[in-house]
Amino acid sequence: MLNRLVGKENVLSRLEDRICYAYDGTKQKCIPDVVVRPHSTRHVSDILRYANEQEIPVYPRGAGSGLTGGAVPVQGGIVLDFTQMNQILEIVPEDLTATVEPGVVTQTLQNEAAKYKLFYPPDPASAAFCTIGGNVAECSGGITGLKYGVTRDYILSLEVVLADGSVIHTGRKTLKSVTGYDLTRLFVGSEGTLGIFTQITVKLIPLPEKIETLLVFFTTPHDAVKTASQIISNNLLPRALEFIDKSSIDCIKGYDQEIQIPENVNAILLIDIDGKEASVKTEVSLIEKIALENQPLSVVYAKNPKERDTLWEVRRVISPALYNIAPFKINEDICVPRSRILETLNRIAEIHKRYPSLKVANFGHIGDGNIHVNIMYNRGDQQRVMAEKMIEEILRTTVELGGTISGEHGIGNVKSAYVPLEIPPHELRIMKDIKNLLDPKGLLNPGKIFV
Ligand SMILES: Cc1cc2nc3c(=O)[nH]c(=O)nc-3n(C[C@H](O)[C@H](O)[C@H](O)COP(=O)(O)OP(=O)(O)OC[C@H]3O[C@@H](n4cnc5c(N)ncnc54)[C@H](O)[C@@H]3O)c2cc1C
Repeated sequence: MLNRLVGKENVLSRLEDRICYAYDGTKQKCIPDVVVRPHSTRHVSDILRYANEQEIPVYPRGAGSGLTGGAVPVQGGIVLDFTQMNQILEIVPEDLTATVEPGVVTQTLQNEAAKYKLFYPPDPASAAFCTIGGNVAECSGGITGLKYGVTRDYILSLEVVLADGSVIHTGRKTLKSVTGYDLTRLFVGSEGTLGIFTQITVKLIPLPEKIETLLVFFTTPHDAVKTASQIISNNLLPRALEFIDKSSIDCIKGYDQEIQIPENVNAILLIDIDGKEASVKTEVSLIEKIALENQPLSVVYAKNPKERDTLWEVRRVISPALYNIAPFKINEDICVPRSRILETLNRIAEIHKRYPSLKVANFGHIGDGNIHVNIMYNRGDQQRVMAEKMIEEILRTTVELGGTISGEHGIGNVKSAYVPLEIPPHELRIMKDIKNLLDPKGLLNPGKIFV
């Protein structure tokens, strides 16, 4: 039947093909019964109508770069691979909008928009390979979140295929629209569990004229956090404000990167400032002044795009470099109110004392309170059990401090057990009721978000 609906060249049923769709960034392995590669909204609608009649689970998939198992077909069924629906349908400079198919790679949209001197700001570190469809489903964030917000802030309108195959259009291609409930916001971040996006209209903004980068080395995390918070409380909004802790620094020292990190550095801030040439100059000097008041060991500037790239290399190499300390990693993406970052880091250090055989490295988007807590562990069941216990303690603490257990990676199946730590039963009930209304047979991405 699927062959008839989409053509047999778009249906993959051999084991060696299906295995390629068993994974995402979490390294789980669940092989789907079949993979279908739609080329149009019509294809998606026909497949969902068929799946609904036959009661077959459907797992939408972009690039499979998710870090919480979102695209993993935990109950088999159909994987819908969106990589063939990868057209930028239009960029309208007068309206500051672009309409795209879900399989467009994020960086491709950024690059195409830049040709019109326009900017699509959401910038996950995976932008070179993840898709807009995946970004909308996860409400992905990135390094530009502090100044520009996250994916949800740029989604104007969606074409969505519902579980029964019907097609709806949420929002409008206008900057303003308050007619009825905001269904667009409901679908953003729904992790493929409420409907499947087949067209996405995003908001664009003018491309910043200039970007400057500076790297500031500190002897204590306290000085780095204080600098970050003073930058923001002085009404300065850098394009990026990243924090790197001592364990991460120890890993990257000697790794394959050009920047020499001085001795005694125990925390780093990496700061991007963008905007008009004149305002960037002023902001850089104000930020430098704030940093110098907090006893930095040194401040390094990028003089040109190549040097900028070299400074950012320090941040980029952290993830691979962490494997120098242990072969296994759990990467959490907690987010706390900015005012509680230092307290959060101190509480994580306290928790760590109870798990001395594990290693912990913290880095991330300090400007938006989003810290990537990485727990590194060695082979062995005991180590894994301990790492999971430690994670639970950290997530409980995060919620206690007014934060959230996921700032950007979503819940998927990996974090679903922890959702009740943050969301009380009566709020979970509302979410489950919405799910039941839109997908009464529970066929869209089953096994995700809710346990
Ligand atoms: C090295 C690396 C760096 C990363 N950095 C960041 C980062 O900085 N910020 C961040 O937020 N994330 C980051 N991620 C996580 C990941 O890249 C994002 O979650 C991304 O949005 C996933 O996109 P994808 O196309 O790979 O989606 P997938 O992993 O394929 O799917 C993700 C979710 O989207 C759903 N989905 C996909 N397409 C559709 C569709 N058309 N309709 C409905 N649902 C759909 C899937 O069912 C799944 O639930 C990183 C991952 C890696 C590996």
